[in-house]
Amino acid sequence: MLTPAQAETLIEQHLACLPIESLPLTQAAGAVLRENIYAERDQPPFDRVAMDGIALSTAGATTNQGRLRVASMQAAGDPPHTLGDGSSCIEIMTGAMLPQGCDAVVPVEVIDRQGDVAQIADPARKSLTPWQNVHRRGSDCRQGALLLAAGTKLSAPEVAIAAGAGMARVRVSAQPMIVVISTGNELVEPGEVIEPHQVRRSNAYGITASLRQHGFTRVADDHVRDDEADLTERLGFHLRTHDVLILSGGVSMGKLDLVPRVLEKLGVAMVFHHIAQRPGKPMWFGVSQTGPSVFALPGNPVSTLVCLSRYVLPALRAAMGQASTESARIALTAPFEVKAPLAFYLPVKLRSDDWGRTSAEPKPTNGSGDFTALAGTDGFVELPPGPNTFPKGFVARFFRW
Ligand code: AMP
Ligand code: MG
Repeated sequence: MLTPAQAETLIEQHLACLPIESLPLTQAAGAVLRENIYAERDQPPFDRVAMDGIALSTAGATTNQGRLRVASMQAAGDPPHTLGDGSSCIEIMTGAMLPQGCDAVVPVEVIDRQGDVAQIADPARKSLTPWQNVHRRGSDCRQGALLLAAGTKLSAPEVAIAAGAGMARVRVSAQPMIVVISTGNELVEPGEVIEPHQVRRSNAYGITASLRQHGFTRVADDHVRDDEADLTERLGFHLRTHDVLILSGGVSMGKLDLVPRVLEKLGVAMVFHHIAQRPGKPMWFGVSQTGPSVFALPGNPVSTLVCLSRYVLPALRAAMGQASTESARIALTAPFEVKAPLAFYLPVKLRSDDWGRTSAEPKPTNGSGDFTALAGTDGFVELPPGPNTFPKGFVARFFRW
């Protein structure tokens, strides 16, 4: 049986990169960049005044004991004025270009202004230094510098940077068309009357919530009974209309676990079935000849969510072209015993100690059906196969829900 790492590699190898689309910057938050973005100009693009006050020549102001005639006023956005001589200054606003002939700015707070004469207070006059309160041209970065690399996920700073580089639109990964499909005759929609022998259809809601929370917006939802004809018809339709199918249930060994057989009949080539892990061992993954990838997750609710976060979300991020980040590693706050020779996914709650160090408090469930125990957990850690007792402080890979 495959290890989780082998399963992860196989998924990566079989996943196609999503197409590129161009989006207006206002719609690009959360998208993954598929082009590099370079600095349009030096940053700042000119010697930028960093305080409201007066712009002057330090040599001139020193000679004149800090008493200067205010020759003009220049606001941010005005073309630069020129300083006539060292005995004068120019009233200036934050964000303005430093006037020609000036080499420093003295803030308004230390100036006594009488009509068109400005007197700089003594301590400020004595400490006057060239380029004070001036953000020098190119001191942040140079024109042409790489600001954002392809693969960057755009959040607020990156969107602002792209705008600063003059990009009205950006080339990003198109959102995949995803469909979440639950299977099972026993499942009943929330809000509908339920009989004692029936079960609420909760997985599809959990999966959809996770996808939305992680920025996937094109998510459809369907439910199919454990019936070969129905499955064939519905899955056939979804394979024609979506990029990614995420199924839950119907992949175990039962007589009515029809999903793998139907998928293969529909031309979805199996890449693997079963991973040496608990929960989630029966997971199935395949790729259709026509393109879409199919993640068929086990139906037990804890297994479903674990497999989604462990395999599907990283795969979708990779398909979007998102640069992979080092996965978090976190220490356990208490020992935990793994009995079976399978990788074990242990739900955890993150805790911060007095030093701000994060560790993971085990929150084991009562088996893979016990999803109520997941309330308040942040994700899970992956523990190596047992039998073994992992001590307090054991550092494991952490996956967030
Ligand atoms: P299966 O993988 O289809 O054998 O399902 C395993 C267990 O998970 C069964 O107890 C199912 O009732 C339950 N289950 C399957 N799908 C869902 C779902 N969408 N929501 C909640 N429970 C489910
Ligand atoms: Mg089932």
